[in-house]
Amino acid sequence: MNNVEQDLWNRVRERLKSNVGDDIFNSWFARMELEAIDADTVRMSVPTRFLKSWVQSHYAERLLTCWQDEQAAIARIELTVRSAVLKPLPPKMKLPEIAPVASDRRDTRTGFESFRGGTPISAAHDALGGSPLDPRLCFESFVVGRSNTLAHAAAKQVAQGRRGDAVMFNPLYIHAGVGLGKTHLLQALAWAGNAATERKVLYLTAEKFMYGFVAALRAQNALAFKEALRTIDVLVIDDLQFLQGKSTQAEFCHTLNALIDSGRQVVIAADRPPSELETLDERVRSRLAGGLVVEMGSLGEELRFEILKARVTAARLHHPGFDVPSAVLAYISKAVTHNGRDLEGALNRLLAHSKLTGQPITLEMAEREVRDLIRPQEPKRIKIEEIQRIVARQYNVSRADLLSSRRTANVVRPRQVAMYLAKLMTLRSLPEIGRRFGGRDHTTVLHAVRKIENLVHSDTSLAEEIEILKRQLQD
Ligand code: ADP
Ligand code: MG
Repeated sequence: MNNVEQDLWNRVRERLKSNVGDDIFNSWFARMELEAIDADTVRMSVPTRFLKSWVQSHYAERLLTCWQDEQAAIARIELTVRSAVLKPLPPKMKLPEIAPVASDRRDTRTGFESFRGGTPISAAHDALGGSPLDPRLCFESFVVGRSNTLAHAAAKQVAQGRRGDAVMFNPLYIHAGVGLGKTHLLQALAWAGNAATERKVLYLTAEKFMYGFVAALRAQNALAFKEALRTIDVLVIDDLQFLQGKSTQAEFCHTLNALIDSGRQVVIAADRPPSELETLDERVRSRLAGGLVVEMGSLGEELRFEILKARVTAARLHHPGFDVPSAVLAYISKAVTHNGRDLEGALNRLLAHSKLTGQPITLEMAEREVRDLIRPQEPKRIKIEEIQRIVARQYNVSRADLLSSRRTANVVRPRQVAMYLAKLMTLRSLPEIGRRFGGRDHTTVLHAVRKIENLVHSDTSLAEEIEILKRQLQD
């Protein structure tokens, strides 16, 4: 590739960046390289198969357009996967040296934690000092929806990777608010990764990471800890926002760098994007932002429904009598909008209720049980037609009367009230309201609004009428 081609590629990159935005660019295109340009074909490479298929299925056209905008003759883009191999870890991870452990006769094989029982997978995991894994948090029970497709695909990809595969994005950084599935996804990755491949996946909460280091340092055992880290292929750290303390952060930074530079995969979850981890050093933040940063959005109603359905199915394994009608699931997924934990809470209550009373689960019962988990509804969007209908009914006139040009007192007042409410309770402009009231001028609407505004101060019965109307419109 010559300089001209490189310049061209740089310009295409700039186009892409402004086209897709910095985040997407950094996630998918930052490590794309130009290999060659042959006549009408551009050959480019990416470090992984996943990246290749993702770019092909999501950005092929835009990529081509950006090239064509620079060089109209380009007709085809060929994407290949660059081969890369796992490099050995540097002989010494650049961690601060602590007093040697030679005199320490305890079993340092496992780093700083004793070997615990359980399944072979969790035993190996525990032996490395990992945080406990919940067997229910697996890929099978993770429901994929619009808000988490990308995070799920990336986690799955990491879990399926083999030793020696090129690392496609490093670190994988997933952020989302509370209860949106971060821990679930990370633990699923740890389970699946440990089960399916010969690689070792270590799942740690940030607290455990801190505790591990502190404990290891106190036991003058940090070398063993470093040894243990050296044997893992994928380090998963949950709730990174809790990482605190200057020395812990320095250790974290060293570990991160050492792992990433040696081709080990790092996966991180936090409740905010890297740029907002204020307590972290700028260099750590930019290292974190240098991989794939994915946000998981809030759970949509459909996804909530599917999660509930999956939960009921799982619960029925242990509680065969637990039967939740679909209407109840639909109600809960509509009403409990906040997060996965509230959904779980709602189902647990239904389960407890059905166990304790032996009664079937009904909609009424569900409404009673989950009442306090329901968030206040978003203010309802009110329509002008609705206002006209309710006002007309209240004053015993017809809707057509309100829209007509009749000027008798029994229609003029209701019409003014309706216009006033339309201004107050909708986002419609005065001209728009005028149009919807039989093609009136906006000054007429303004006059009506002012008139009623003034009257409600002095006329208590009118004020009351208006309160009643508002209430009817709001529910
Ligand atoms: P976070 O770690 O982001 O705070 P969790 O992973 O602890 O959230 O999720 C909270 C609850 O919601 C858990 O019970 C989890 O299993 C459930 N949950 C969240 N997202 C999903 C999903 N996509 N599919 C199935 N369960 C989910
Ligand atoms: Mg969590």
